[in-house]
Amino acid sequence: MQEERTPAIVLRTRVHGESDKIVTFLTQDWGKITGIAKGAKRSRRRFVNVLEPFTHIHLRFRPSRSDELIFILGCELVQTFRRPSQDIHRFALASYMVELTDVMVAGREAGQEIYALLLHGLVSLEESSPLPALFLPAFELRLLVEVGYAPNLHSCCVCGTSLPLRTADGSALLFSPSLSGLLCPQCDTQGGATFRLAPETLSLLQTWLASGHLPDMRPNAGSPRIYQETRSLVSRLLAQHLPRPLKSLAFLERVDVSPVSSVSRPATGVDDTQSRA
Ligand SMILES: [Zn+2]
Repeated sequence: MQEERTPAIVLRTRVHGESDKIVTFLTQDWGKITGIAKGAKRSRRRFVNVLEPFTHIHLRFRPSRSDELIFILGCELVQTFRRPSQDIHRFALASYMVELTDVMVAGREAGQEIYALLLHGLVSLEESSPLPALFLPAFELRLLVEVGYAPNLHSCCVCGTSLPLRTADGSALLFSPSLSGLLCPQCDTQGGATFRLAPETLSLLQTWLASGHLPDMRPNAGSPRIYQETRSLVSRLLAQHLPRPLKSLAFLERVDVSPVSSVSRPATGVDDTQSRA
């Protein structure tokens, strides 16, 4: 097979045998692929500093069938993200974003949008100071959308009625994580455990979903309520779809010094959503 090239981000690396490494990449043009770098453990010259997680590279490889390892011919460094190596909170965020992307993306079907999203997220971690409070939920929600789990924030997910930002009596609408959408007042007992989304939170989330990419966020945009409700929505949606708890999330929660730490996240597969009062 002929040599191929693509921009790529290293998701994870492990040593294989005496001298090789097995490396998983998210690529711009080939989705998520895993390959073998022969001699990478011994030959520091051929693969110097290019097989570390969340490094941005140009990958040269020989393709394989979808169930086989590609053969890694070489990598050229495009960008090393240095701030995560100097700041443990940013390191934990980068580790989580990479592991989450790895888990949510099944294989080679990943499109260029997911590659662009992860790259944008890592560049933001490198360059944004301070990080917007809603940086992580914005990334998580965009990833959910790109892998096909967009929540329905415009109509009742039971009866299909189109919904405004608040109910006729002025109260906030209910969101059902298990149905991944809003409920109208007539259907509000049919969504299992639910919670309310204030009109300003709903409006922000609708804008994010319509934007088609990671939204621009001011560092301190939004009220604490928007922050709490957005965190609740995103973490409960993720809990529906993640196949296992992420090690990097436990690490992130230990080192987190942002307002994120004040909002507990449900463990995977456990729905601790508060029932309606
Ligand atoms: Zn309804």
